[in-house]
Amino acid sequence: AVKRDPKIQVARLKLPILGEEQRIMELINENEFLIVAGETGSGKTTQIPQFLYEAGYAEKQMIAVTEPRRVATVAMSARVGHELGLTSKEVSYLMRFEGNVTKETKIKFMTDGVLLKEIQTDFLLSKYSVVIIDEAHERSVYTDILLGLLSRIVPLRRKRGTPLRLIIMSATLRVEDFTENTRLFKDPPPMIKIDSRQFPVTVHFNKNTYDDYLKEAYKKAVKIHTRLPEGGILIFVTGQQEVNYLVRKLKASFPYRKDVDYSKLITKKAVDGVDAALDSEPDDIESDDDEVEKEMKRARKARKKAKKKAKELPKINLDDYDMPEDDGQADLVGRDDDSEGHLSDSDIEENVLAPEIKSCRQPLWVLPLFSMLSSSKQARVFAAPPVGARLCVVSTDVAETSLTIPAIKYVVDSGKKKMKVYDHTTGASAWRVVWTSQASAEQRAGRAGRTGPGHAYRLYSTAVFQHDCPSHHPPDLCRRPVDDLLLQMKCMGIDKVVNFPFPTAPDRMQLRLAEKRLEVLGILEKARNSTRRKDDEEVLKVTPLGKAVSAFPLLPRYGKMLALSHQQNLLPYSIALVAALTVPEVMSGKPECWPATGNTLLLGDPGVLLRAVGAAEFAHVKGEEELFCAKYGLREKGVKEIRKIRKQLTNEINLSVSGANVSVDPEMKPPDENQARLLRQLLLSGLGDQVARKIGLNEVKEGEDKRKFKYAYHCGELDEPVHLHSDSILRKTIPEWVVYQELYETGAEGRRKMVMRNVAAIEAEWLPVYVPH
Ligand code: ADP
Ligand code: MG
Repeated sequence: AVKRDPKIQVARLKLPILGEEQRIMELINENEFLIVAGETGSGKTTQIPQFLYEAGYAEKQMIAVTEPRRVATVAMSARVGHELGLTSKEVSYLMRFEGNVTKETKIKFMTDGVLLKEIQTDFLLSKYSVVIIDEAHERSVYTDILLGLLSRIVPLRRKRGTPLRLIIMSATLRVEDFTENTRLFKDPPPMIKIDSRQFPVTVHFNKNTYDDYLKEAYKKAVKIHTRLPEGGILIFVTGQQEVNYLVRKLKASFPYRKDVDYSKLITKKAVDGVDAALDSEPDDIESDDDEVEKEMKRARKARKKAKKKAKELPKINLDDYDMPEDDGQADLVGRDDDSEGHLSDSDIEENVLAPEIKSCRQPLWVLPLFSMLSSSKQARVFAAPPVGARLCVVSTDVAETSLTIPAIKYVVDSGKKKMKVYDHTTGASAWRVVWTSQASAEQRAGRAGRTGPGHAYRLYSTAVFQHDCPSHHPPDLCRRPVDDLLLQMKCMGIDKVVNFPFPTAPDRMQLRLAEKRLEVLGILEKARNSTRRKDDEEVLKVTPLGKAVSAFPLLPRYGKMLALSHQQNLLPYSIALVAALTVPEVMSGKPECWPATGNTLLLGDPGVLLRAVGAAEFAHVKGEEELFCAKYGLREKGVKEIRKIRKQLTNEINLSVSGANVSVDPEMKPPDENQARLLRQLLLSGLGDQVARKIGLNEVKEGEDKRKFKYAYHCGELDEPVHLHSDSILRKTIPEWVVYQELYETGAEGRRKMVMRNVAAIEAEWLPVYVPH
């Protein structure tokens, strides 16, 4: 039997989910699949594993809970262990590089990627009696793949007579992709909706939208803290660096000192009694310039009233940190001002906000929260702040649904998040700051209403919300290039990706094309499917080369180039080249700046690119990058991005390729004749499906204008000719065989033309080696 701390039991009983325990357990006992939908904070993650535990689901096998985020994996296992009065030996967690699972583990929290890995070695997941897929609404790639696999594993387990249960938990009611997808679940699984005590949250939009959302967030937090009643503040920004930056600034503005007794502040606020004023406020959407000002006025009126009442109570001197009583004047302080340009950090502190800060001595207990934060630091957001201080958590979107932070009354939402975006031609991925979806904005606002009525301040206008924020972002799996997804899934042992029951399927035609491409590149090969006896068909499986390729964070074709280039000491060149190729349009068309000299011509257009990157790197070291880029027609942002990718690839290769010791050399010499030849072979190895042969003049049909065929090539299965790009350096030599990076259409209607970009010459005798026929 479970022995819970009485305090814990009291807290649990406040969660409406406790009243549903019996109904939930009946549904779980009677069904193999169950969907649980409930607002963040309703108790799904902390309570349902406990229900299962108490019902005996952990007696013979384990209870598995997957989380898409590392933060939640650690925090939730600790919380559930604590609530059950068990140790981390029994309620444990496991994620890449870290974990505390033991032989006695009963409830195992893990990242979704970890469970996926376990399926590769134990397809039936025989260690578990139940699998909970938490945060399914986040639609992480691994979660989506897990759902597809589990939809097949559950029936197999039933046939074995050792049933497995699958519980899908979501913070939103938007679950049609799971319930209405008959490929995934033939019969829609039952769904239970958990009620939550959600208090009204008043949403305030900014009238204007400023680029510098960090400054706006800082200003808003300062205003809330200096002028509005008690209650925790939660600020959403996009990444670790931004979190740390804001934490530093806010701490410096409202420092907490251990040697000061802040308890008097508490008494003052209690006497003020302004909470009542806020709570009675109508739940409207306003778009005023500065909502905090209005709040402040209301609060002040309430405070005056409260003061009158307070006369009869014990005396406390309030004068020290009281606010100006003059309503009119207060409105002039710190108003959002259009004309205010970009201010530096010190400007923000000294000019804009100094008067308010001086009038407030209450410390702000500022804590960071992001995924890679150490477990012990994460845990601090759940503890009460020291007496007299106001809690302020600065977080990435992990606080959106994964973690419920207690006692938040104010949410400040930048409206931004970091999202991995892919270039579908090059497969290059980069983290970009984008607008959140409207659904996310609602979630974030909801965080302010867990323990009482709250306020959400969106640092952008209603127009942005309506026009720039999509209602939802598509699931991760549908946003990444399919070549990469396909290879990853094949590496997991999922052979028939095209038939895979995805919750939301990527385009099947695209998957088939990708399969063909990867086969041509030798990354996949046909093999007998030995595991399924009855249909003795051929499937495409990953080759050993493919395994190596999958280790690189690149589209498989570029991964292949790198995987092959350690052998001839080509790594420094191939890294620079691949980095350059994966950033689009770096050379913005000043071909005259890059004439063919020396060995450049040998490597063709990629050689020019390599030379440009090398020269830009050298200019960067000398501090002349900006000038250099302008002069030589290079896109500066692209050049910077290449540098980042080059560094990242170099680091990863040094870590993952045994014996590799590469560095980024700002004075890299141009490749010699031999190296240029090898590099062309490397290009062909990765672009082997993109080869073209010169159309001979004798092949041009009678009556056609031969001049039109000067730079024309014949390309694979294409009927029409393809042409060398007008900037291509190979127009000087027009070699017989070429390999190209990209094919695209140009020209107006009627004069349409297919053009090859980034072209290098190859030799006919290499073809059989690199391009399987
Ligand atoms: P859900 O998974 O439905 O979003 P949770 O189970 O995470 O909800 O949270 C339920 C309740 O438990 C919340 O009210 C939250 O404040 C509380 N809670 C969760 N983790 C902790 C913790 N580490 N410390 C204190 N309270 C917590
Ligand atoms: Mg949860």
